[in-house]
Amino acid sequence: EFPQSEALQRLPEQFFAKLVNKVMKVKEQHDDVINLGQGNPDQPTPKPIVDQLKKAADNPNYHKYPPFAGYPFLKEAVADYYKREYNVDIDPGTEVAVLAGAKTGLVEISQCLLNAGDTVLVPDPGYPDYWSGIALAGANMHEMPLKQENDFHPDFAELSANTLHNAKLMFLNYPNNPTGAVATHALFEEAINLGDKHDICIVHDFAYGAIGFDGKKPISFLQIPGAKNVGVEMLTLSKTYNMAGWRVGFVVGNPSVIKAIELIQDHYYCSLFGGIQEAAAFALRSDQSSVTQLVTMYEKRRTALVDAAQKIGWNVEAPKGSFFAWFPVPEGYTSETFADLVLEKARVVVAPGVGFGKHGEGYVRIGLLSEEKVLQEAMERIGKLQLFPS
Ligand code: PLP
Repeated sequence: EFPQSEALQRLPEQFFAKLVNKVMKVKEQHDDVINLGQGNPDQPTPKPIVDQLKKAADNPNYHKYPPFAGYPFLKEAVADYYKREYNVDIDPGTEVAVLAGAKTGLVEISQCLLNAGDTVLVPDPGYPDYWSGIALAGANMHEMPLKQENDFHPDFAELSANTLHNAKLMFLNYPNNPTGAVATHALFEEAINLGDKHDICIVHDFAYGAIGFDGKKPISFLQIPGAKNVGVEMLTLSKTYNMAGWRVGFVVGNPSVIKAIELIQDHYYCSLFGGIQEAAAFALRSDQSSVTQLVTMYEKRRTALVDAAQKIGWNVEAPKGSFFAWFPVPEGYTSETFADLVLEKARVVVAPGVGFGKHGEGYVRIGLLSEEKVLQEAMERIGKLQLFPS
């Protein structure tokens, strides 16, 4: 057996692997487990996108190595998407790279910009993949607490001069996983000013960019003047078009960052299969009616879940975007003891908030990735445990 490299050994423990094991044990004994703990879209990719891939697969040009970091036609489709959706001008030649899912970009960017000992500002709670790239690069994380009383936005005033001096990178993510919060112009403006002043690259993870509720379209970081000077946005087709298995994403914005990512990527995987790139461009240029339908579906589920939770006495707030709800655990429980209890006694899986960082303690994340009646049944089962004061 070969020992793992020091870099690999620095990778944080996979918190949710533990949860999967617990769920498997309960599933061995019960066939009615409701899993609301995961983040995998439950609907298939819209058929016209799949059909486009089938047609494109026959094109022999795509059977060769693709141009590194993406075909120009796909980069142009991304630029046109930004113009159409956000009225943002993007140069497809220098401001877009194609990724195998946003995940790759989120890890690669740490390798591109960090040296050992650098500081990275991360939202807490936050998407655990940010931690991996930072650990592999030997950099240090500085958590920015996202508090409910602050609409789950970080308070930049809490960052010390020393932290800002050492910081090279900052991750932000709105609509937010796990809290369901959305960004404001003011938040992004503050981040851009901070990035400008302290030479910090701002990485905005826009994975749930298409999923905003109550008729409000989430804003793109790149809509804010000056954004491209200090940062990039990560976009993905995984959630917008139910294409999580296809592995298509983009990094868009600051040309020096795009160049660095393309440099690294050329050595890893060059780029994606051309047929997938063609279908991805087709999705971005489509009339977006599938996206509207998807958002309507998630919004109905959100309302059903929140209503059902309130009916059992759970004092919860509705998420404003993403496909997650972030509910407080009742008095006397930690996020893990509560999640364990509802798994064992109600056979409902929820994700303990502490898995997203220490400031996630006190909450659980519930996915909107099951039908309304399943979400309602899950709340009814939890209600029978009588954990909430009536
Ligand atoms: N960013 C966030 C906040 C996510 O929740 C996810 C997936 O769950 C990703 C990025 C990964 O996206 P992709 O499928 O494009 O790698």
